[in-house]
Amino acid sequence: MQPCLNCIAPACRASFGINEIIYNCPKCGGLLEAKYDFSDIDVHLLKRIWRERRMENNPLDQSGVWRYRELFPFLDDYNSVVTLREGNTPLLQSVRAAAYGGLANITFKHQGFNPTGSFKDNGMTAGVAQARRLGMKRVACVSTGNTSASMAAYASAGGLDPLIFIPNGNIAYGKLAQALEYGAKTFQVDANFDQILALVRVLTERLGIYLLNSINPFRIEGQKSIVIEMMDQRDWKVPDWVVLPGGNLGNVSAFGKGLRELHQLGFIDRLPRLAVIQAAGASPFYEYMREKGSKPFEAQGHPETLATAIKIGDPVSWPKAQFEIETSNGVVESVTEQEIADAKAVIGHSGIGCEPASAATLAGIRKLKLDRNADVVAVLTGNVLKDPDYIYRYHTGALQAPDSSPIKPNFGNAPIVVPNDAEKITALLAG
Ligand SMILES: *Cc1c(COP(=O)(O)O)cnc(C)c1O
Ligand SMILES: [Zn+2]
Repeated sequence: MQPCLNCIAPACRASFGINEIIYNCPKCGGLLEAKYDFSDIDVHLLKRIWRERRMENNPLDQSGVWRYRELFPFLDDYNSVVTLREGNTPLLQSVRAAAYGGLANITFKHQGFNPTGSFKDNGMTAGVAQARRLGMKRVACVSTGNTSASMAAYASAGGLDPLIFIPNGNIAYGKLAQALEYGAKTFQVDANFDQILALVRVLTERLGIYLLNSINPFRIEGQKSIVIEMMDQRDWKVPDWVVLPGGNLGNVSAFGKGLRELHQLGFIDRLPRLAVIQAAGASPFYEYMREKGSKPFEAQGHPETLATAIKIGDPVSWPKAQFEIETSNGVVESVTEQEIADAKAVIGHSGIGCEPASAATLAGIRKLKLDRNADVVAVLTGNVLKDPDYIYRYHTGALQAPDSSPIKPNFGNAPIVVPNDAEKITALLAG
């Protein structure tokens, strides 16, 4: 069987060539996913090869994504790959954060250590490889920030022209700065995310531009490497929980698919439970799953949260996410702006740090009251420097939620103004 793109809609399941430039099923509009023949996979051999590749100087092997290429073999050869040595992100422990989350131990898988500072790099290296393999010259995305930063870097590194469409305002400066610096043509459109996506779909079709939004199934394939690398780093010991923030729900879809494939092939002996955490002001998936999917999925017209990376009212990948949550016996939780801000400061004080959306994980863990001795991996999706403005405001007591209510700096650490006087500073430090 050749690699192909399959429609995930149970009533359709149509199959398409891996080289077709489609983002939804042409028959029913359903989401697409890549499918492979894995019959030649040798689990023990691959586990050894993947370990050995860590010591190689070959760029493909040094990449924490392409090192695991046997589990997403959609390319005929690897000439189209652009790697900035994405992945290779650490597992970090924190006693302080574990205590805050009501756990004896916690492990963070920190995707903020990626080349452009978020997990989007794991998927983008795969999406850009597919764009180059198809001979596309231009790529485009609509983004709240990290997708544009990542796409700009990978497209430019690969000699493609990146076109970025962003909603006016509402984007963290660190991310916009990256897109400009990496050479993306950047369009600010006076419309919301969903309206701009519709616009961009017209433009990509008309002008032969490749679309790299998270609906792109090849980005999902690359993001599977996050859980594959995590399991490799844990010597294939399965945690009880994998916790991640949810916006467009592409990442939970990738985690679920990656873990199911690892399980079916025999790399791991069971599935961890997935927990997706949404911001209360942008929580359509939480609301839907609270009703156990018994009512039709309803988008939110005006999502609001300071965690801009998860400020999504109409997540494209919700059908995949629902399947993965149900298959893994997972849960969906929502957390307030105050809870996100405090959890973020605790992660920061652990010496680890992350952007606001990432901190929803620890806030959610605290709220879920998991078993104290559970083995929990929380995925920190973005780097602490993505949104410095938020940090300064929180610590100085100036941060406000989108509805203008104040956020208390419960773990605030404001700079202290002192006179140029050793005696007075000594007295202060003694007190
Ligand atoms: C994109 C992003 C998310 C949300 O991921 P989805 O796949 O859209 O659910 C969360 N955190 C950060 C930092 C992101 O960049
Ligand atoms: Zn279909």
